[in-house]
Amino acid sequence: MKQKRAEELREAWGDAPCEHPQLAKVYDLGAHTGSFACIKCGHMFSFREKAELAAARRA
Ligand SMILES: [Zn+2]
Repeated sequence: MKQKRAEELREAWGDAPCEHPQLAKVYDLGAHTGSFACIKCGHMFSFREKAELAAARRA
């Protein structure tokens, strides 16, 4: 998703808890920023945070 879209999601979501069910690559000006955003709440994850989230789910 676009970086702008992730910002909009974050603003709309507010402080509610989210389990971040699915992450999407974040693009800015058509290029992947290297970050990921939750498609539900817009929370941003680095590649490393994304890997840690996946590892925590497997545990
Ligand atoms: Zn989320």
